[in-house]
Amino acid sequence: MSATYRDASRAALLYLLISIVWLQLSGYLLNSFFDGSDELVRWQLINGYAWILLSTGLIFVARARLLRCLGIGNTLSERHEERERLRQAAAVFDCTREGVLVTDSNGLIVHVNRAFMEITGYSQAEVLGQRPSLFKSGHHPADFYQTMFVTLKSLGEWSGEIWNRRKSGEIYPQWQTIRVIRDDQGQLSHYVAVFSDISAIKNSEHELKHLAHHDPLTDLPNRLLFTDRTEQALTSAQLHKRGCALLMIDLDHFKMINDSLGHTIGDELLKAVAERLQAMLGPELTLARLGGDEFAVLAESCPQLMQAAALAQRIIDALKEPFLIGGHQLFINTSIGISLFPGDALSAEQLLRNADSALFKAKSAGRDGYALYTEELTAHAQNRVETAVELRRALEQQELRVYYQPVHDLRTRRLVGAEALVRWEHPQRGLVPPAEFIPIAERTGLIAEIDAWVMRQACQQMCSWQQAGVALSFIAVNVSSRLFARRELFQQVAKVLHETGLDPAFLELEVTESAVMEDPEVALEQMHRLRELGVRLAIDDFGTGYSSLLRLKRLPVQKLKIDQGFVAGLPWDEDDVAIVRVIIALAQSMGMQVHAEGIEQVEQARFLLEHDCDLGQGYWFGRPVPAEQLDWAHAPEIR
Ligand code: C2E
Ligand code: MG
Ligand code: MG
Repeated sequence: MSATYRDASRAALLYLLISIVWLQLSGYLLNSFFDGSDELVRWQLINGYAWILLSTGLIFVARARLLRCLGIGNTLSERHEERERLRQAAAVFDCTREGVLVTDSNGLIVHVNRAFMEITGYSQAEVLGQRPSLFKSGHHPADFYQTMFVTLKSLGEWSGEIWNRRKSGEIYPQWQTIRVIRDDQGQLSHYVAVFSDISAIKNSEHELKHLAHHDPLTDLPNRLLFTDRTEQALTSAQLHKRGCALLMIDLDHFKMINDSLGHTIGDELLKAVAERLQAMLGPELTLARLGGDEFAVLAESCPQLMQAAALAQRIIDALKEPFLIGGHQLFINTSIGISLFPGDALSAEQLLRNADSALFKAKSAGRDGYALYTEELTAHAQNRVETAVELRRALEQQELRVYYQPVHDLRTRRLVGAEALVRWEHPQRGLVPPAEFIPIAERTGLIAEIDAWVMRQACQQMCSWQQAGVALSFIAVNVSSRLFARRELFQQVAKVLHETGLDPAFLELEVTESAVMEDPEVALEQMHRLRELGVRLAIDDFGTGYSSLLRLKRLPVQKLKIDQGFVAGLPWDEDDVAIVRVIIALAQSMGMQVHAEGIEQVEQARFLLEHDCDLGQGYWFGRPVPAEQLDWAHAPEIR
């Protein structure tokens, strides 16, 4: 081989290398070198030039070397790029405001970022190797997590709101996206969770919701929320067969305060009214401000119209106390409209409308008062509420009196006992009979005081009679059915007996048949306790209360009082005759005394005597009278 040829072939190789590098770099497809033809290259030599034929084989060898060379170059630059990419990713991972948590395929935490630590309060060291269940709040049921894993498995991704627990123990809402990461072979390698703390958003959502449903001045529910609550209450009331009441409250002449003292004072007054009402009504009743000076109250459990009326009266009274605002002492009166469910209306909207028209009535009637949707009810309720208020005063002012009605032995016709009957000496209305105030006293709870008072008076009176040498065998006192079931009754009776010094054998307690049959087991227990004290027991108004004979037999009772309704028909009404005869026979068979009340005519007394009734009471013998007017010698002839 000549020197020229060696030169030429070295040069050819060099050229080839350079051109391949160039072609590679310029993106030229190497394939064009391999189109199967040889290439003729003209190379300039020092002494002339030479044509070189480069074969594909040569090119192939050169290319293989070159590619390896380039490959190494490429790998180096790829590594560099990747390192750069990783560095960037790490920076993003660390700087992002979202918390990032990576677990391995077993669910063990392998990475967390800085935001994660800021949000959760945990350091990296505390969580690496742990499971994300460490953050569970207990807020979600088990099926929540099940659904999450099913979605992750099927779709490879889950997003949603989730409540987790910070290290401090506080639970908070996150918006979280969890993604499954797979390797080149498609095997699950990691889970990546990215989340943001959305408690601030939630709070503002909550605030917005609160604003939409509350009055900004008083922070009470507004009309929207109130209507909604009323609807819910009516649904529940319907289900449980309960009565509800809606009271619409309007401050009388509020406009005058606004106009004369300015809106700031007006607003302060409204706030003070809201606070006072809220404190008075407590959490069981829903109070709302419907707008302006209009408030509303919903009583979800209001079985009686009396209760609604009494509530209205309490509100009126509470708002009558002066308000001290901005140095002014302000007095306000209130008008209230009441509508009742289910009596007046069946829907929230109708209830509101009816309460509104009742309010209009209250205002037209001179304000400072309440009105019910139905007029007769208004009068009725007003009367009763007034009575309740007055009755309280009557007790304090000692307007109650005890009258005594004589009880005669039908055989000897002698006066043997007396029944104590309460009366109310009303300063304007005169003597009010118990039928008009006992039911009200029972509903307002005043009955306990009244009965205790009557019992004390009667026992004292009996002691005085005994000291005066009057030989009565008993003094009878009525016990309200409201008290009969209560444990305190026993203590109360014992106390009165102790304090007055009356021998218990002279005291007879009258309990109505219906009170006994309301809860016969409790009645039985109570009666046994009272019997242990030594007092006598009588069943009043017998024949009206559907007694079970079996139960009656077990009661430790000494007397049955035949209700006056059966006595009234004697001796002509066949049914009454039959009933009275049965009651007498029944009492005798059980070893009890029989006492007939309501005897107004001699024929009635005669019939009863002929049928072996023991005792008689009624206008024919004598009306209830004050103690000093009892006629001891009176013994009318029956035959
Ligand atoms: P009661 O215990 O059945 O009392 C009998 C009632 O019948 C009394 O009515 C009495 O005045 C009336 N009466 C008596 N004889 C006749 C008559 O010949 N004809 C007619 N038409 N009526 C007669 P009063 O005093 O109005 O009492 C009514 C009810 O009020 C009593 O019925 C009793 O259930 C209750 N009551 C009275 N005083 C008290 C009390 O101190 N405490 C309680 N818890 N209830 C009382
Ligand atoms: Mg009685
Ligand atoms: Mg009676």
